[in-house]
Amino acid sequence: MKALVYHGPGRKAWEEVPDPVILKPTDAVVKIDTTTICGTDLHILKGDVPAVTEGRILGHEGVGTITEVGAAVTDLAVGDRVIVSCISACGKCDFCKKGVFSHCRADEGAPGIGWIFGHLIDGTQAEYVRVPFAETSLYRVPDGVADELAVLISDILPTGHEIGVRYGRVSPGDVVAVVGAGPVGLAAIATAGLYGPSRVIAVDLDANRVEQAKHFGATDGVVASDADWKEQVFALTDGLGVDVAIEAVGVPATWDMALAIVRPAGHVANVGVHGKAVGLHLEEKWIENLTITTGLVNTDTSPTLIKLLAQGKLDVAGFISHRYALSDILDAYETFGNAAETKALKVILSA
Ligand code: NAD
Ligand code: ZN
Repeated sequence: MKALVYHGPGRKAWEEVPDPVILKPTDAVVKIDTTTICGTDLHILKGDVPAVTEGRILGHEGVGTITEVGAAVTDLAVGDRVIVSCISACGKCDFCKKGVFSHCRADEGAPGIGWIFGHLIDGTQAEYVRVPFAETSLYRVPDGVADELAVLISDILPTGHEIGVRYGRVSPGDVVAVVGAGPVGLAAIATAGLYGPSRVIAVDLDANRVEQAKHFGATDGVVASDADWKEQVFALTDGLGVDVAIEAVGVPATWDMALAIVRPAGHVANVGVHGKAVGLHLEEKWIENLTITTGLVNTDTSPTLIKLLAQGKLDVAGFISHRYALSDILDAYETFGNAAETKALKVILSA
């Protein structure tokens, strides 16, 4: 088969590799019908994720058709249309039993992390993928849900929903700010609406992204490069700051912004993956009764999101900015890697 193979920092190729096979009775093999590219794949290609070794097939998002199941797989069958989740869950370890699939202890490359596709094992930017723990990690696609929407369930929708909105405890009437209106921040904006906030403020350096956020449910936008960006946020919140600040960038500046705009007794939900240390001024903030959360997506809300998607209750078609054939994945990477010029959000690749 053909796959997108990582060959060390800055080097990748769409090339012939051996077909995946069932290695364990709990495995399935899935023919990829639709996949996409994530900001994390760009980080890997820069060499920021050393656990990814040369020869690894990238990708942790996908929708496909089961072509083979292991002997222990009884609930799924050849021909089933499934979503491949970015998190693999054994379903048996202590963390899985608590629903914290992100920290599954099963050893598929290294124990203790549920994100293994395109990281510790071969991923979904390929014609076929081997899926461990198939029954507890694959989700059936309901009839009538298009592949290109279902693939949003692999990562960005549960990430924005779980680590942004749910950890941030968005509640009816809340004023919510989402710092960073990339795909993940927009997913938080799109799912915050499920909880009845009174305002959702999109904050981004890019005025175009701030505008785009209004198509996903943002009621207001603030351009982060405006000198008075903070005053603009406070003007939208009776001068008190937001109830929930969601950080969806992953740099010290946006972490500081989230802490600067949250009101006392509010929530700061960090979603961004940080590469540098950030500060926390407890000498000022200790008195503010804040809740600060962070984490890796569990995908435990994927079944709920799939149901809402099937019922048309998540308006997420706006995520799809470009479409390519899977074999043109190198062009798709070019487009996605130049999002500032191409305005790419999610680039869909179809077999
Ligand atoms: P992205 O790079 O596409 O979007 C980031 C957005 O932040 C861009 O629109 C950019 O203009 C904006 N931005 C950058 N600097 C800013 C600043 N100083 N002020 C305001 N806005 C600024 O990223 P994405 O794919 O949307 O992902 C967002 C973050 O979520 C990343 O750090 C990613 O690694 C992380 N992530 C976390 C999880 C998790 O489980 N916690 C899962 C997936 C992704
Ligand atoms: Zn587990």
